[in-house]
Amino acid sequence: MAVIVVGGGIGGLFAANALHQRGIDVAVYEQAATLSEVGAGVQLTPNSVRQLQRLGLGDAVDRAGAVDSERSQYFRHDGSPIAPITTTDSRGWNAVMGMHRADLIEMLAANLPGGVVQTGRRCVGFEQDERAARVTFADGTTSEADVVIAADGLHSRLQHHVVKPSIPLYSGSVAYRGLVSRRRIAWWPPDEIQLWMGPSRHFLTYPVRAGEMINWVAFIPADESLAESWSAPGDPAVLRREFAGWDERVAQLIAHLEVVYGWGLYDREPLARWTNGRLTLLGDAAHPMLPHVGQGANQAMEDGMALATVLSAAPGRSPAALAAYERMRRERTSEVQRRARQTGRAYDSNYDDLAARDADIAASRDFRFWVYDYDVLHDAEQVAAAL
Ligand code: FAD
Repeated sequence: MAVIVVGGGIGGLFAANALHQRGIDVAVYEQAATLSEVGAGVQLTPNSVRQLQRLGLGDAVDRAGAVDSERSQYFRHDGSPIAPITTTDSRGWNAVMGMHRADLIEMLAANLPGGVVQTGRRCVGFEQDERAARVTFADGTTSEADVVIAADGLHSRLQHHVVKPSIPLYSGSVAYRGLVSRRRIAWWPPDEIQLWMGPSRHFLTYPVRAGEMINWVAFIPADESLAESWSAPGDPAVLRREFAGWDERVAQLIAHLEVVYGWGLYDREPLARWTNGRLTLLGDAAHPMLPHVGQGANQAMEDGMALATVLSAAPGRSPAALAAYERMRRERTSEVQRRARQTGRAYDSNYDDLAARDADIAASRDFRFWVYDYDVLHDAEQVAAAL
């Protein structure tokens, strides 16, 4: 079986690893000239760390990550504590960790044989028949395989071959984010997630690279003047104004920022379909979600493990396997999309009664356990056995 993956982000590269591990001939086509990610962190959670371990990347993840301790905490804007942040699954496995995005991309790419990933290949077209699927690239070349996986992100070029295009929904917020060396703020805890929430905005920090750097994200309200995933340098003075009067720790971290970059935050309503014959969607192309439960990349990795498992179980019946993958994944990812919106409202204190908000935050541990305990491979093997 041969599979084309369009997009070399976290989702596409993870899927390529899982497919290759099952002996499937896989090619990844990435439009950018080099594989790269934004200079920021990503939070990994037990549900995907478990799957990274199965790819043989457990040691690499341990080396590059920064595991978050049980001292991780939610705060009100003034620094008064609300509740602990859940950093384990329900069995106490402590595998919530911050990772530099570049480290994750590099370890996923390095785990593939040379030549699997081709950069500078922008996919512009798709067609299929009963025998095969074909993609066309901007340079006029084509490539053929049994299956095409569109892992091409929020702006997916291939999505409209599956469903009528839907409009990305602007959340009303922009995320500014970046990294600060802990050498500059040596007193900052090297192993804690900290999240402060105030009116219409919130501020998140967690360590990456074994605590050498602190990833920070400032969520602030803004008009929809930013395009989807737009990023441009901004002025740290804006953040100083936006968070004036907050906990002194927030002020001190912002004081160390020189240039800041902002992203408009968008999601979509769950799509009606993910699959059309030999083409399926994965990651943000399938279920773009707001970042407030830190699951976009984690869910994309679950997708990749599910897809590789069902595909490898049904040689010669790829469309049936893709349909089974979609059925298996849609409900869970739709729920995570919904919870991401709801959590964003809580973090932005969008409640009449802040005591009720605090109670919801404290109760969010059950949702976290539901996300973190899940083993996608277990479910995928059952689906595959029934194919
Ligand atoms: P992408 O990362 O968008 O990758 C798509 C790739 O496809 C890109 O490399 C692109 O160049 C390529 N491409 C696009 N079109 C084409 C084409 N036509 N031909 C070839 N290649 C193409 N998630 C978490 O799990 N944890 C977090 O802590 C977290 N924090 C976040 C914080 C912020 C502020 C934001 C905005 C998001 C956060 N996310 C987090 C979400 C996460 O970043 C995304 O869900 C994840 O990166 C999506 O991966 P993907 O591979 O599906 O898409």
